[in-house]
Amino acid sequence: MLRLARRMRLCMKNDPQSIKTELTKVYPKKVAQRRAEQIVVNQRQPDGCVPIIKSNVRTLPGIITQRGCTYAGCKGVVIGPSRDILSITHGPVGCSYYSWLTRRNQTRPPTLEHENFINYCLTTDMQEENIVFGGEKKLKQAVREAHAHFKPKAIAIFSTCPVGLIGDDVHAVAREMKEELGVNVFAFSCEGYRGVSQSAGHHIANNQLFKAVIGLDETPHDEKFKINLLGEYNIGGDGFVIEELMKRCGIKQVATFSGNSDYQSMANSHTVELNLVMCHRSINYVAEMMEKKFGIPWIKVNFIGAEATSKSLRKIGEYFGDDGLKARIEQVIAEEMPAVEAARLAAHARCQGKSAMLFVGGSRAHHYQVLFKELGMKIIAAGYEFGHRDDYEGRKVLPSIKVDADSRNIEELTVVPDPERYRLRRSEEELEQLAANAELELRDYIGMMPEMNDGELVIDDISEHETERLLEIYKPDIFCAGIKEKFAIQKAGVPSKQLHSYDYGGPYAGYEGAINFYREIDRILHITAYSHLSAPWQVPPPEVQAVTAA
Ligand code: SF4
Repeated sequence: MLRLARRMRLCMKNDPQSIKTELTKVYPKKVAQRRAEQIVVNQRQPDGCVPIIKSNVRTLPGIITQRGCTYAGCKGVVIGPSRDILSITHGPVGCSYYSWLTRRNQTRPPTLEHENFINYCLTTDMQEENIVFGGEKKLKQAVREAHAHFKPKAIAIFSTCPVGLIGDDVHAVAREMKEELGVNVFAFSCEGYRGVSQSAGHHIANNQLFKAVIGLDETPHDEKFKINLLGEYNIGGDGFVIEELMKRCGIKQVATFSGNSDYQSMANSHTVELNLVMCHRSINYVAEMMEKKFGIPWIKVNFIGAEATSKSLRKIGEYFGDDGLKARIEQVIAEEMPAVEAARLAAHARCQGKSAMLFVGGSRAHHYQVLFKELGMKIIAAGYEFGHRDDYEGRKVLPSIKVDADSRNIEELTVVPDPERYRLRRSEEELEQLAANAELELRDYIGMMPEMNDGELVIDDISEHETERLLEIYKPDIFCAGIKEKFAIQKAGVPSKQLHSYDYGGPYAGYEGAINFYREIDRILHITAYSHLSAPWQVPPPEVQAVTAA
């Protein structure tokens, strides 16, 4: 029996198409059909096209998903990491707790006297009475109290599910409080149920940041090479590493959305020459709107992985076209790479040929493949929790993505050039030339699948059941996911690495981060504890083993 099961597993491993059937066969017919559209075997065509994958659709009832809610995406991901915007959750205390520092975002105020609210969790703690009679009064009281206590520059109000259900007008409260208190108060209609996943919350956060914050501060900067870094949330100190690299290259990083950020820098972010997009899914809306309104182009970057970091820095040099900047970038790369190479080679010798699966976020499942490949490891399967088709297949598919009812639920802002502040950062001809350079990814993102090998599995919104089956069939050497999956994976005898919040590790960005990652993956892969996971009764007695081996 054991041999048969082993043989079946081997057959399936060699035929990824059969995995699809295997993963979905326990579902009712309709569910299986729908899940099958979200599971594909990668196959790249000569023109760069990859199979269509269904994504950004509602998780089917009964399926245990990795996803979070819209409120989590808005407050927990995009706005939460900013240290001096005081965040108030309007809702039950559980929602607030859910988004309270769970992502290990780090921040570094210039001095101890500067505001840092990142450790706080402020909530209106709605009770039954507020649900029956409305919670606006309580919200106003909470805003006044928070203002009196913390004297913040800005206050953000986040709506949770019950707020949307009872119809509290959080925007009217924000307007009234802004007038009364004389500070910027803005609200987000980010009720948990509003979208398919946390991705809707990112979009809502982008819209409101654009309307209520970006462009409020006109302080000029003398530096020539000014950029914003969008979609970098400073988990485990990644943002600090990137900031340091920028400084060494002579690049002025005006604002980060939103790791290690403050309100003023975001308000001033429209003064830059270029936007860098790190996490495409969570922030591409701001990048696009800033280009339309202020004329700031954007490029896709990835600072996860040593080669990817060098490539991203060179892209910045290419965009600005300045020889001095290019030389400084090359100097930084030359200074960093010997240590990276030494660490990589040491780990490579022990990790080469091992296998990994990655099911995280919007861009992380793509970005981290680079680091595993630098270690000579093989990616068996990958997928996003809340990605859209353009994150998988590349932005070229955007025109073919159908707008469904869930997407219509999110406000689509009409953005026009600012009559006074719109300024072309490069001439039309220069931009055309830069756009023709595919490597630069100007206003573009190639997507995850074109950079994966043929035959590798791509699974959107993977379920708990599918995770368990994959673990049984493939027994990967490492499975990267989040905290919700971590312990189920480890109990299956497979090492797990959290790539949302990095467990207790990091930073993993830049050269320093790559070295940390190589060493940590090497350590994780060689932990022997997992070989002791079978209980004595799970190991067949010797006489059974003798029969099955015969
Ligand atoms: S789904 Fe709704 S109730 Fe649950 S945490 Fe999100 S906002 Fe709160």
